[in-house]
Amino acid sequence: MKIILPEKDLPKQWYNILGDLPWELPPPIDPLTKKPISLEERNSVFCRELLEQDNSQEKWIDIPQEVREVLTIWRPTPLRRARNLEKHLKTECRIYYKDESCAPAGSFKQNTAIAQAYYFKKAGFKRLTTETGAGQWGSALSFACNEFGLKCRVYMVKISCELKPYREYLMKLWGAEVIPSPSKYTSFGRKILKDTPHTNGSLGISASEAVEEAFKNKDTGYGAASIFNFVNLHQTVIGLELKKQLRLIGDEPAYLIGCVGGGSNFAGLIFPFVKEKINGKEIKFIAVEPYACPSLTKGKYLYDFADSGCFSNLIKMYTLGHNFIPPPIHTTGLRYHGCSPVVSLLKYKNIIEAKAYHQLDVLKAGILFAKLEGILPAVETTYAIKAAIDIAKENKTRNKCIVFNFSGHGYFDLHTYQSFLHQELKNYRYPISKIKLAIKEIEKLQPK
Ligand SMILES: *Cc1c(COP(=O)(O)O)cnc(C)c1O
Repeated sequence: MKIILPEKDLPKQWYNILGDLPWELPPPIDPLTKKPISLEERNSVFCRELLEQDNSQEKWIDIPQEVREVLTIWRPTPLRRARNLEKHLKTECRIYYKDESCAPAGSFKQNTAIAQAYYFKKAGFKRLTTETGAGQWGSALSFACNEFGLKCRVYMVKISCELKPYREYLMKLWGAEVIPSPSKYTSFGRKILKDTPHTNGSLGISASEAVEEAFKNKDTGYGAASIFNFVNLHQTVIGLELKKQLRLIGDEPAYLIGCVGGGSNFAGLIFPFVKEKINGKEIKFIAVEPYACPSLTKGKYLYDFADSGCFSNLIKMYTLGHNFIPPPIHTTGLRYHGCSPVVSLLKYKNIIEAKAYHQLDVLKAGILFAKLEGILPAVETTYAIKAAIDIAKENKTRNKCIVFNFSGHGYFDLHTYQSFLHQELKNYRYPISKIKLAIKEIEKLQPK
């Protein structure tokens, strides 16, 4: 069973939760002065309109017609009911998933890629740079730049280029230039290459390279995959459509579930429902992350750098410390040391709950899902699936409505599934002692 909306039901406005929360979001601050940063000072790698959205207190923000036209290539996305999974679990719960894998590059990331490319183009930028790990974000932005006539350069983590060549081809087919990172194109990259010539690279290094290049070139902007308020804003089409779809079938969600790296797909899913919960409605929001990168379950709510190169302002979030070294797990999209400031604030206020799992357990859940429902989930998505399954089991006779976000498909993740089938993967829990050390490092960054 699937619930499909007509094209006219694609939202005409994004929902800005900042205009609707009873709490103030701690502002980004300058690492030296520890004072809040003005819009002008932040105006370096982003265009004005995105920065204004990042700061806006308007509850509703119009989606430009040009952006809506591109979004209708795949939106509204279907809401599907996982009936075979329900039967298999012998649960009376209803399990739905919002299928964001329908986007051309295969994940929800395309929702913000389109909007960002549009605003940069309108502001006169000629090209965008960004980083990518698994390649989902890089390919989403490549497609978006191609749509709006911008050049695109993607710094791709070197080891991912080697392990996931098909994402690289996809980006190139859409006209982007893909650079294995670290590279000789930036001074940060050259420094890393000099110190550690055989490094595999990391998402933090790639991001620092992309930001450096955008910072040094006036006609070049930086495409942000997650974390920023404007990214969360663009993702609210997910939750807004979901609301309409559930209304159509007369159902009410008891659980909304999403996997969390930087937090944007989870934000897009739940933000339109948060106010109702603050006003007393019974609904649970479950953020799911890896034990190997447990920022919400084990991190601290502190000011920290958004990147490992320490180029960013300080933002307040649940963090494992920017020196966090990503352990060798396969869910590249969830290996971020922090989490979006708004999602972090909601966690701090106990509006959302967080849960962590091991990679072998979630991959098993993902394969079970593929057998029963047909679609192969992205590795990141399997975290949400595992949580949905566990909740459906716990509530076997309670007849609850459970919705999770199917953040992307896994047809480019076959390498990971292959390693799983060959029993080459291990579980990894990030050691608490390492977290304590990394947190100690950032305690000195806090404002007095
Ligand atoms: C990037 C990605 C994620 C994690 O990003 P968030 O910003 O935390 O949503 C999850 N699933 C897929 C398929 C992704 O590509």
